[in-house]
Amino acid sequence: MPPLFHIILSTIIAAILYPFYGIWVLAAYISGVLVDVDHLIEYFKTEKALSFKKLKHYYKTTDFDNIFQPFHSVEFLIILIILSFYHEVFIVLAVSYSFHYAVDFIFQINNDFLHHRNFSFFYWIYQKSFK
Ligand SMILES: [Zn+2]
Repeated sequence: MPPLFHIILSTIIAAILYPFYGIWVLAAYISGVLVDVDHLIEYFKTEKALSFKKLKHYYKTTDFDNIFQPFHSVEFLIILIILSFYHEVFIVLAVSYSFHYAVDFIFQINNDFLHHRNFSFFYWIYQKSFK
């Protein structure tokens, strides 16, 4: 999903949550936008360079096969949900991340990219070990 879409979505979420969590809603941008650092890390690991233009091309043309990206995993969401019992900033992070995760998932389904990224660290380990 393009970064601009995540920025707009995070802004909407922050606006909705602002009456309840005040300034903590700024955290919506961390889990709603900055978690896409996964894509930079994956690109850097492979290409050993950083160029936004080349990054876009890389993601448009590469047919990934079951890569794992830690900030795009169900385990990351579970950690945020558990932490949300301890501080309200994690509620904002969990809500914003849930929407990020959901729209990325829908984007993957609509573009037939579901095989690109594994949704779970443990399932990914299982697949790497036993298949
Ligand atoms: Zn993403």
